[in-house]
Amino acid sequence: MDKDFFSLNIMELLKAGSFYLESKGIPDSRTEADLLLAFVRGIPRDKLYLELNKEVSPQEKEKYQEFLRRRGEREPLAYLLKTREFMGLEFYVDRNVLIPRPETELLAEKVLDFSKNNLVQKPVRILDLCTGSGALAVAVAFYWEGAEVVGTDISQEALSVAQKNAMQNHVQVDFRLGDLFRPVLGERFHIIVSNPPYVSEEEYGYCSPEVRNEPVLALLGGKDGLDYYRKIALEAEEFLMSEGTLILEIGCCQGQAVKEIFAGRGYQSLIFPDYAGHDRIVMAKKE
Ligand code: GLN
Repeated sequence: MDKDFFSLNIMELLKAGSFYLESKGIPDSRTEADLLLAFVRGIPRDKLYLELNKEVSPQEKEKYQEFLRRRGEREPLAYLLKTREFMGLEFYVDRNVLIPRPETELLAEKVLDFSKNNLVQKPVRILDLCTGSGALAVAVAFYWEGAEVVGTDISQEALSVAQKNAMQNHVQVDFRLGDLFRPVLGERFHIIVSNPPYVSEEEYGYCSPEVRNEPVLALLGGKDGLDYYRKIALEAEEFLMSEGTLILEIGCCQGQAVKEIFAGRGYQSLIFPDYAGHDRIVMAKKE
């Protein structure tokens, strides 16, 4: 960005920002420049255009320039704006957590489908493994009144984010620190849900620079990406109520392999696709 940056008005700042981001290979460069400048000014995006003749202070310009630079280095937009929408709710996100994805909303919906049938006794107990930002756990607690939701994660930093998100959305979730089932020894749940790390070592090599800015702990599922399904399939029985169900997110080509892992532990499973037609969810029950 040139040295005259500080003399630019709002329209010019947006144009310069968009041009810069485009040169760095960001697809929605204009939208992102808008969002960053609006964020710096503390206003919603549509208000930017109502305030075109208002002054942008040198401090705001400096902050905007700094954000453009970081975005140009492919830091994810959600980390800069510190927010992401999921299931119609606002979530705080930072680099300690995976950014909630639209596909994961399908997982939340599958869990919430159970609230519509009467098969689950009340109060329903739901466990979210590898809760991360808490998006799944918080959305389920928000939309399923009376559900008791427990979320576990191995990262204390992630759990602080999850706690913040529960408070921000006015729901109660019992977040506990520890690896997978360790924090819930001796307890049972009607539904166990999880979006575990499932990227293989090879796939990680092809991930976008944005994804590589996300916590590797939340992405890498061992050499073939399937480690967490093996661990969950091995241990889940002890933590499921009889008739309990597992609902897990899986990678786009993992349906068959995950089905086999669960079959090997005596589960029957169904694979569901996402809107792009890729394998995305496995639902498994003890036979
Ligand atoms: N869906 C994520 C991706 O885009 C992976 C999430 C996960 O490993 N749970 O790579």
